[in-house]
Amino acid sequence: MLEFVERLSRGEKLNAPELGQLLKGAAHDSNVLKLLRHYAVRTAQEQFGLGVYIRGLIEVSSYCRCDCMYCGLRRSNRTAERYRLTADEIMLSAEEGYKLGFRTFVLQGGEDGTHTDEWLVSVISKLRTLYPDVAITLSLGERSEESYRRLKEAGANRYLLRHETANSELYNSLHPSSRGLEHRLDCLRSLKKLGYQVGMGMMIGVRGQTIDDIAKDLELIAKMDCQMVGIGPFLPHKATPLGEEPAGSLELTLAAVAIARLLLPHALIPSTTALATLSPTGRLEGILSGANVVMPNLSPSDVRAKYAIYENKASWGKEAAEGLEALEKELNTIGYHIDWSRGDYIY
Ligand code: SAH
Repeated sequence: MLEFVERLSRGEKLNAPELGQLLKGAAHDSNVLKLLRHYAVRTAQEQFGLGVYIRGLIEVSSYCRCDCMYCGLRRSNRTAERYRLTADEIMLSAEEGYKLGFRTFVLQGGEDGTHTDEWLVSVISKLRTLYPDVAITLSLGERSEESYRRLKEAGANRYLLRHETANSELYNSLHPSSRGLEHRLDCLRSLKKLGYQVGMGMMIGVRGQTIDDIAKDLELIAKMDCQMVGIGPFLPHKATPLGEEPAGSLELTLAAVAIARLLLPHALIPSTTALATLSPTGRLEGILSGANVVMPNLSPSDVRAKYAIYENKASWGKEAAEGLEALEKELNTIGYHIDWSRGDYIY
C-alpha cells in the first residue's frame, strides 16, 4: 500500500486495480490516508505555493431538462423552486464580484432550454468586453460542439463538465433519459479540441458506486489529462429518489482528491462546496489533501437557496463572495492565503 503512495508521489501512474487497492487502504487505515494527503499537499505546494485561487460562482438557472437521480434540480422534482437570472442580474453579480477581487466568473446552471446560443453569446460577449482580464468559466451541461464553439468565440475560456462516473451502467442508472457516458465524454473531447480549459470529476458515495468505480474514475481522469478536476461527496436531497441515502464518506473523498492531485500535479482542483457542506472542516481538509481552488457563491442572495442540488448547501459565510475576509482568515489558520490572480492552468 505504502509502495503505491510512493510510486504516485514520484509521478508514476497507477492502474485502476492498484488505485482501488489504495483507496480501500486509505478508507480503512488512517496512516495510509495521512501519507497520501501529505504527498498531495507537497505536490500542490510545489506547483502553487500556499495560494488558493478563488472563483466567483454565479448560478444562472435552476431550470433543468435532465432528471439526474441525485440532483434536487431534476425535472421530476415538482417541489423545486425555479428561477432564471436575467442578463442584467448576471452582469450585476459580475460587477460585484469584480469589485470584490474575483478574476474568474463561473456561470453554472441546469440545462435550461431558454439558454440558446444567441442569448449566452450575448451575455458572454458583454462580460468579455467589460472585463477583458477575467476568465469566464461555463458549467451548463451538454451542448453541441457547434454551440461550445460559439460560446468559446464569444469569450468563454473554461468549461466544467463532470463525467460523473466512468461506469456506463452506473451512469445510465443515475441519468435516466440521458445520452449516456460516451456522449458525455464526447462533449469533454469537443471542449478540449476547441481549446477550453476543461474540468471533469465525480461525486463520492452515490448509490451503486463501488470503490473500484472510483478507481476507474481516477484512471480516466489521469488518461483524459484535463486542466480541472472536481470531486465532492454525494449529499442527499429529500425530493429525489436518492433522498434517503447516506452522504458520501469524508475520508474517501479526501483520498480521491489527494490521488487526483498526485496523478495531475498541475490540475486546478477545488475544495468543493459539497465538502464544506459535509463537514465544518471540509474546506480546509480539502486543501490539506491537495486542492487549490475555492468557489464562493456570487449569485444574487435571493436565489441562493433555490439552487438546491442537495440540501443545506453552503452558500453563506466563507462559501459566499461577501465572506472573502472570513475565508482569508480561515485559510491563514493553516498557513495558506487567497491568491487573487486569475489562476489559469500552467502547461
Ligand atoms: N448542469 C450542469 C451543472 C451541474 S451542478 C452539468 O450537467 O454539468 C454541478 C455538479 O454538482 C454536478 O456535476 C454533480 O456532480 C454535482 N451534484 C449534483 N447533485 C449533487 C448531490 N446531490 N450531491 C453532491 N453533488 C451533486
